[in-house]
Amino acid sequence: MSRLSIPRYAMALAHVASLRSEDPYRQVGAAALDFDNRVIATAYNGLAPGFEAPPGFWDDRESRQKFMLHAEINLCSLFRRGEVKLVASTTMPCTACMQTLCAYGVKEIYYRDAYHASDAPEIAALYGIRLEQVSDLPVMESGGMAGE
Ligand SMILES: [Zn+2]
Repeated sequence: MSRLSIPRYAMALAHVASLRSEDPYRQVGAAALDFDNRVIATAYNGLAPGFEAPPGFWDDRESRQKFMLHAEINLCSLFRRGEVKLVASTTMPCTACMQTLCAYGVKEIYYRDAYHASDAPEIAALYGIRLEQVSDLPVMESGGMAGE
């Protein structure tokens, strides 16, 4: 097994973070690495810290959406502007998250799953941010590890 590249390493961490999401419909994880490739933060999508969802909250897939704090936003709450070089997210950042990652000075963004409703590719192109898909991961959907 060859050594994991930095983007795939970050994506594997993002995948593990996504396993903590409480959203039954979409689990998104993200990881941030600094300019020395040190892990600064991991995060996942969910409700505001400390908030307990009332019974029935998760029943309506549509109405829950506006309350969900996206993984990338939670991630950005854990570092300061200019501290992070690379972010990996299991889903391509939505337009709002992409704008936020720009504001935080992130230079490289990797995603596993495409998200066609996002303007992230256009935003990345304008601001000169690397935005690439990373899909060949050693961590499998089942939670097991492959590649041995
Ligand atoms: Zn988002």
